[in-house]
Amino acid sequence: MAGPKTLLVLENFINGKFVPCSSYIDSYDPSTGDVYCRVPDSGKEEVEAAVTAARDAFLGWSSRSPQERSQIMNKLADLIEHDLEAFAQAESKDQGKTITFARTVDIPRAAYNFRFFASSILHHTTECTQMDHMDCMHYTVRTPVGIAGLISPWNLPLYLLTWKIAPAIASGNTVIAKPSEMTSVTAWMMCKLLGKAGIPPGVVNTVFGTGPKAGEAIVSHPDVPLISFTGSTLTAQHIRERSAPHCKKLSLELGGKNPAIIFEDANLDQCIPTTVRSSFANQGEICLCTSRIFVQRSIYNEFLKRFVEEARKWKVGSPSDPTASIGALISKEHLEKVKNYVKKARAEGARILCGEGVDSLALPTGNQNGYFMLPTVIAEVKDESCCMQEEIFGPVTCVVPFDTEEEVIKRANGVKYGLAATIWSSNVGRVHRVAKRLQAGLVWTNCWLVRELNLPFGGMKASGIGREGAKESYEFFTEVKTITIKH
Ligand code: NAD
Repeated sequence: MAGPKTLLVLENFINGKFVPCSSYIDSYDPSTGDVYCRVPDSGKEEVEAAVTAARDAFLGWSSRSPQERSQIMNKLADLIEHDLEAFAQAESKDQGKTITFARTVDIPRAAYNFRFFASSILHHTTECTQMDHMDCMHYTVRTPVGIAGLISPWNLPLYLLTWKIAPAIASGNTVIAKPSEMTSVTAWMMCKLLGKAGIPPGVVNTVFGTGPKAGEAIVSHPDVPLISFTGSTLTAQHIRERSAPHCKKLSLELGGKNPAIIFEDANLDQCIPTTVRSSFANQGEICLCTSRIFVQRSIYNEFLKRFVEEARKWKVGSPSDPTASIGALISKEHLEKVKNYVKKARAEGARILCGEGVDSLALPTGNQNGYFMLPTVIAEVKDESCCMQEEIFGPVTCVVPFDTEEEVIKRANGVKYGLAATIWSSNVGRVHRVAKRLQAGLVWTNCWLVRELNLPFGGMKASGIGREGAKESYEFFTEVKTITIKH
């Protein structure tokens, strides 16, 4: 156990200053199982202080020109990039992800989120139409909504929080951000840079703590008219109920149970390594990860053999090891939950082809109490099994055979979620046909996770409400008004 002297202690960031909290919660290093950080256990009082600061800062910030806001956001991106290595180390330690993933995905993207919205905010236009027979002209204006409540999960901590903060402040809102209580460190580090970048006090306030206490205080505050939430479908249901009395604007980015459909004409040399990556990247803790793989029967055996061979190559190791492909899962409870799915699949008669628990002897000293698991491949599990229906959110993927296009579309759509899907085929006509009929907000064909930030991102069905992107986020974080002038 780490001694009390070595604990990192975070503070809330309200009105441009770090302020201590009256109570704290422990945060664990997933790769050792030790408490290493204390996170403010904020509640109504801290949220109230943040709302006051955000309200006071709103007029000044919303009156700045988009160019000024854009310059400040670019400066913040520079500062994050300057400290990229320190941010990457912190993200990897806090979340359990590999240092390589944090260095190449999380932190570069967090900085880029500011750059992207700093640029896109300069290019929006409003509409104008004329109605000559009435001597009227109509046009629209957009104004920031006010104080935005931004709540994010633990899997891509700074990446997802900045994907909300950036469009919110670019559009002239002030914000109260709450990262997950399990991964708060990089948001706290970023708060240290806000003043340096030129973000005025009160524009970005960060309140740390748990969902039921800090999160709920934000969601139910009457002066926070807009909530952007990324997290589980269950929490989103709760947020909808809590915010309903206030008619808040909601953007909900939720879970997935994403299929990959592999037709017999797929290029397996490209498909197999990409599908292994789409199943196990970031320990399978990405909402877009593949967790149901449908393979056309004629190539099923070959695919399985090669897929398992490739999955076995993925090295589970200490997150700080640059050669590791998989780090630790976020928590002991989560590891148990993920392993339980494998147990259930086995009890139902499915075949576990590789994976599950890591032999602790294979782990470096110091990591033996960490929350590690091997990339796990389950075959021939029934479509109605919980492993094929529920979001596992860990390094577990299921592989099943199919015969026809019609059949696989129906089976792929046969879950409550609708976030992302992947199709592998060299037949363009088929790709178009199938992509159109899949119930998913994103369909990748012959690739995975190639993101174009300008275009809408988000899910159907239980995977969410609303979309994020250059235009969509701008529309969400602003109110539109139609003005009619008679001359
Ligand atoms: P979670 O729902 O448990 O928590 C998400 C955030 O909500 C945390 O900050 C948490 O403290 C807060 N929260 C919890 N209860 C709350 C409440 N009652 N009121 C207000 N806030 C509350 O989710 P998680 O376990 O942190 O993240 C994993 C989930 O996130 C998975 O389901 C995953 O698919 C989803 N996710 C979705 C996307 C996407 O873009 N669609 C991206 C990443 C993760």
